[in-house]
Amino acid sequence: MTTALITHPRFVQHELPGHPESPERMRAVWRSLEQAGVKDRMKRMTALPADDEAILRAHSPGYLEFLQRASRDHAQQIVMLDQDTWLAPGSLEVARLAAGACLQAVDVVLAGDADNALVVARPPGHHACPTAAMGFCLLGNVAMAALHACAAYGLERVLVADLDVHHGNGSQDILYRDERVRFLSIHQSPLYPGTGAAEETGAGPGKGYTANIPLRAGHGDATYRALFASLLTPLARRWQPQLILVSLGFDAHHADPLANMRLTLAGYDWMVKQLLDLAQELCDGRIIFALEGGYQLEVLAHGMGNLAHRFLGESAFSDPFYNSDLRTRCDSQLVIDRICQIHGV
Ligand SMILES: [Zn+2]
Repeated sequence: MTTALITHPRFVQHELPGHPESPERMRAVWRSLEQAGVKDRMKRMTALPADDEAILRAHSPGYLEFLQRASRDHAQQIVMLDQDTWLAPGSLEVARLAAGACLQAVDVVLAGDADNALVVARPPGHHACPTAAMGFCLLGNVAMAALHACAAYGLERVLVADLDVHHGNGSQDILYRDERVRFLSIHQSPLYPGTGAAEETGAGPGKGYTANIPLRAGHGDATYRALFASLLTPLARRWQPQLILVSLGFDAHHADPLANMRLTLAGYDWMVKQLLDLAQELCDGRIIFALEGGYQLEVLAHGMGNLAHRFLGESAFSDPFYNSDLRTRCDSQLVIDRICQIHGV
């Protein structure tokens, strides 16, 4: 089993001082992978930039021109694109590398040069909309990768599972009408960005291929386990993906400062194992995990270390944040029943 590990030293060169989506996130993950001693057992690759063609599958020409012009006109200063999304000198090149890392993951896995892949990149991508930057995201990394798999390799069924605590509104918008890419998101609601209602299920040829699972604050491992059993696994089996892409955020962890869910690292490890098993069952193990959010640096670092061990089939799990008093909400069944009804599972 070969796992590709794709990253780039420039992922620390996109910074707004004091912002939680900081270069320290990358450094923390790199350090953790180093300490875990996993890197030598992975196929290490340096990201290449996404070209215009790949960007334009997901974003409008006007938006790409806007990014290019803003990068040119403000080559010495930081520009705010929305309240919390910025373009610093060099940011567009870094964003192209982050998206390119996901495209490369598709290439290496579909060419059979790796069985699966782990993308350690920033800025994240799942809030980037077709025509605008949003929520720390400039380019739709994972959505672009899904469309690349369809356009360049003729895939007809790709699953994007978004486990970041925030709804992946940008990925959803990019993929909403596409019958080839199925999008499933589990997220806290109400919370930024405010989208992702259970009734949002796709449109046109993509009708029925978007599944949103909004949860109130306070849900944890038990709810996610129930959701995997009742919704994610049955929908994945129905959709029969040829490739699975995972937008992974560690911000649903109980210690994350930007949200209020109660997942533990054991919960994350369990979900990763389930997804790896599902990929084995449905698509010869072809699965790619790409990092989205996660703002408690030690949780992020530990979670990614656990993930790497899990990819390599090693049992080296650890959770220094374990808290036996962690109570989670028990009203999940109502939500699950309602969404099962919407999707007929
Ligand atoms: Zn997030």
